[in-house]
Amino acid sequence: MENRLVLVINCGSSSIKFALRQEGQSLPLASGMAERLATPQASLKWRAGEQQQESALADGEHRSAMAALLALIEQFADQPLSAVGHRVVHGGEHFTGASIIDAGVMDAIQANAPLAPLHNPANLNGIRAARQVFASIPHVAIFDTAFHQSMPAHAYRYALPNELYSVHGVRRYGFHGTSHQYVTNQASLMTGLAMGEGAWLSAHLGNGCSSCVVLDGKSLDTSMGLTPLEGLVMGTRSGDVDPNLHAHLARTLGWDIPRIEQLLNRESGLLGLSGLSNDMRQLEQARAEGHSGAHLAVEVFCYRLARSLAGLAVALPRLDGLIFTGGIGENSALVRALTVNHLAILGLKLNAEANTSLPRGIAGAIQNIGSPAILVIPTDEERQIAEESLALLDAPTS
Ligand code: ADP
Repeated sequence: MENRLVLVINCGSSSIKFALRQEGQSLPLASGMAERLATPQASLKWRAGEQQQESALADGEHRSAMAALLALIEQFADQPLSAVGHRVVHGGEHFTGASIIDAGVMDAIQANAPLAPLHNPANLNGIRAARQVFASIPHVAIFDTAFHQSMPAHAYRYALPNELYSVHGVRRYGFHGTSHQYVTNQASLMTGLAMGEGAWLSAHLGNGCSSCVVLDGKSLDTSMGLTPLEGLVMGTRSGDVDPNLHAHLARTLGWDIPRIEQLLNRESGLLGLSGLSNDMRQLEQARAEGHSGAHLAVEVFCYRLARSLAGLAVALPRLDGLIFTGGIGENSALVRALTVNHLAILGLKLNAEANTSLPRGIAGAIQNIGSPAILVIPTDEERQIAEESLALLDAPTS
């Protein structure tokens, strides 16, 4: 059947983001979000082309939000859904790719919950509710971690005693895999290589930020680790700090683990450095007006990003290009310029005019002559989830 329909669902503890995707189409037929679930203010917002609407959800439980989605889909779909694709944050070592959801897969997602205590249980709630409402079609789980399961042991192991890995699963997993996979595939197409080919550095810069090195469609290393706190400076997350910081804060300030987790996840990053905001747009404006905290935050963000990318480059035999994506990567000419400026060692040279004049939301190349490609590529994780879901349905069963 051609042009099949897939409902893509990203379920959090109090929200469900969704997109109704049609095979081969770059834009969703409809997309939106049910939010403030399990509160009296629960609502469903959606848009489809020019139409948009917000309505209250009388009973704001996940299941009634799914039932409201079903009614919406019946309004816009000219054929039955072929699958529901669910974003799941942590697949641990169990999942190296997309999986058709059955009881065993749900148990395995549950078993990985200690690695993502906020996310996996919420993802499972969404899966349960969706399987009740969309009962007759396959449901597929797509994991943020799966793309990075190709990392070699020398990239994913921490220098800790073996038992912590072999018994307790303490290792680097990486996240944002769906986005890094999507943009590196697009990069191959944009540069005339076969789909998935090429030697790429990828920077996904949103509220969460991660870098990744990809060779011929396989992730070889990435900046996030056991949890999405490791690596780059992010909106409110610190990224890498000295691992002795916990002990230091406990000894000198008497802080307990929840207080330190709050500090590193919610009060640090661009927000902590600037003392102003976690939002790059606001920081760019404040920097231009001479705000020293905003200036420092942007400098540290770009330097640490460049340092991470240069480090990851050691995994490659050559460099075909660097990709910027995510809200900051796609929109901030300043961040791209400052970052590339630190990367002359990789032969990267920016075309300043192309960098600043790139239209919003459009993919483009911004390198100078003689430089590996520097590409700005809008990410589309929902499209990747829809495509992987359909590819799995088409795969011959072994
Ligand atoms: P999320 O990780 O939540 O999906 P996004 O990918 O939407 O986040 O990225 C959010 C970040 O993108 C914010 O820091 C925001 O300020 C930044 N951003 C969005 N538009 C611009 C812009 N025009 N210039 C600079 N930064 C921008």
